[in-house]
Amino acid sequence: MAPADHEHAPAGPAAPGPIAAAQAGGAPAAAATVAGEPIAAVRLEGLVKRYGEVTAVDGVDLEIREGEFFSMLGPSGSGKTTTLRMIAGFEVPSAGRVLLHGRDVTALAPFERDVNTVFQDYALFPHMTVGDNVGYGLLVRKVPKPERQRRVGEALEMVRLSGYDRRKPGELSGGQRQRVALARALVNRPRVLLLDEPLGALDLKLREEMQIELHQIQHEVGITFIYVTHDQDEALTMSDRIAVFSQGCIEQVGSPAEVYERPATRFVAGFVGTSNLVTGAAAEAIVGRPGVFTIRPEKIRLEPADTSPGEDEQSAAGTIRSVVYLGSDTRYHVALDAGSELVVTQQNLATSSTEAHEQQGRRVQLVWKRQHTREIAEA
Ligand code: ADP
Ligand code: MG
Repeated sequence: MAPADHEHAPAGPAAPGPIAAAQAGGAPAAAATVAGEPIAAVRLEGLVKRYGEVTAVDGVDLEIREGEFFSMLGPSGSGKTTTLRMIAGFEVPSAGRVLLHGRDVTALAPFERDVNTVFQDYALFPHMTVGDNVGYGLLVRKVPKPERQRRVGEALEMVRLSGYDRRKPGELSGGQRQRVALARALVNRPRVLLLDEPLGALDLKLREEMQIELHQIQHEVGITFIYVTHDQDEALTMSDRIAVFSQGCIEQVGSPAEVYERPATRFVAGFVGTSNLVTGAAAEAIVGRPGVFTIRPEKIRLEPADTSPGEDEQSAAGTIRSVVYLGSDTRYHVALDAGSELVVTQQNLATSSTEAHEQQGRRVQLVWKRQHTREIAEA
């Protein structure tokens, strides 16, 4: 793999000089600007990918900021990997452009782009030490040994594996092996790191630990991370911003809180969290006008049937249809008299499993703050 070319100035009359490559382990490079606007680390313009009859990516426009932890979230088959592969240069778009730091790279080969990819099925060489695995790309590129050793040491330090360089992959835990794969990509000092479901093979507990760790590592190295996942919790936990994909299109781009609290579409409301939609007659009865509304389950209180809501609240009467005890929380499915069903989650501050299950069949009043009723714009 040839060293990436950093010498290209971004296009445009006001373009500043060459942008310094983000130094691995150092402070993030200050974002370059054009006319006061920061240049996006990655810019996708009308990106389309067709495979015969299948349109895998169907017109994606997106800007990812320098130094951002950006997630592409969506169900299987929604076009996330294909989009990532077009950024990396492994796939040629059917239409549209890919710009990296202001430079059109659509026609460039992967090794001519300043990006690296970490895949889910990262293959480490089992017979080679951790240090040799991490340094392999540098060896192939004939980087002199002293520099190689220094950079391998730095990369291992970034992923908190200093002192593990002489071990073999078989002597590491799953999480440590994943960190070696990360170090192997970081050692090239890419300005953008692409990660395709890299934690998918780990069990839940380890995955949750690695989510926090990955976020910290990204913060420290200051490299732009683009992270593909189908797991909404993972995206909400780690990201500065999230793009929600469905059927080759982006439904919404926003911070985790924006996407969760103010879903732009029905799809986002259902995919990120529990959909809890109020529509039709139920909307007229509860909200007072027609439309599509969503209320997140944890915003709703379960109250006795005769409770009347306050000035700033909305409410709906119903019957608890089913109860799911989840340990820390209990989830209630409530059939509303007005004709919809809402899911309510309550923390089990005082409730035991038995008490929770005894609630089934009870008449209740659901109460929530007016501001937590979100209207969804229908296309
Ligand atoms: P995701 O990563 O979100 O699961 P992908 O980008 O892998 O989705 O795939 C999007 C769609 O494109 C799917 O319908 C998939 O079957 C199709 N697809 C992806 N790669 C190819 C390919 N090489 N040939 C044909 N169809 C493909
Ligand atoms: Mg995929």
